[in-house]
Amino acid sequence: CGITGYIGEMDAKEILLKGLEKLEYRGYDSAGIAVSNEKGVHIFKEKGRIADLRSAVDGEIFAQAGIGHTRWATHGVPSYINAHPHQSTSGRFTLVHNGVIENYTLLMSDYLQDVPFQSDTDSEIIVQLIAKFSEEGLETEDAFHKTINLLKGSYAIALIDVEAPDIIFIAKNKSPLLVGVGDGFNVVASDAMAMIQVTDTFIELMDKEMVILKKNNVTIKNLQGENVTRAPYKAEIDA
Ligand code: GLU
Repeated sequence: CGITGYIGEMDAKEILLKGLEKLEYRGYDSAGIAVSNEKGVHIFKEKGRIADLRSAVDGEIFAQAGIGHTRWATHGVPSYINAHPHQSTSGRFTLVHNGVIENYTLLMSDYLQDVPFQSDTDSEIIVQLIAKFSEEGLETEDAFHKTINLLKGSYAIALIDVEAPDIIFIAKNKSPLLVGVGDGFNVVASDAMAMIQVTDTFIELMDKEMVILKKNNVTIKNLQGENVTRAPYKAEIDA
């Protein structure tokens, strides 16, 4: 399983798909991408091979930001519906997640009894919680932070918000995730290998950190919401 994300000026779909192909070695049963442009968020997903996902993606669509996912099912069978990205009922938030949310049934009964779920995954709880806290009045960053603090288990997460198309929200705990730094763009991936075709400069993330990723800016915050500074490193991998 794996995650890719891109925000910049190039064609996001191609960078996301290439990245997912580089992550195929990690194993997966389905794959998907969401790309965001001035017309909104467009989701493409497929059970099965990334080659099938590639043929399902609208070749005409141009978007400068997006997130990608390969799924290794833990909760819910491999299927189109359970494939990531997952969206909040409102359609405003779109999320990919690797890992396992151990307390998702508890969170469902504590916070989301009235929300109809669209999938059988543990992951959907994350995007529905963010939507709930946002509807209650929190800014997206605060809704994201509040949600992350409630999660028990492992996660690598990337989230996009239709109303903040210049940001990818990222979080990590016990699942691998790196930020890649470019000139006029930034990326996120489970493994540097996925993005080495666009950058060789990466920033390591620690458990329980979150990142506000923009095309010209990387802001890392710890669990307490304090800014963290960390120098990037050069990855030595042949593209
Ligand atoms: N637990 C999630 C699911 O079953 C994510 C699995 C993964 O890491 O790909 O959909």
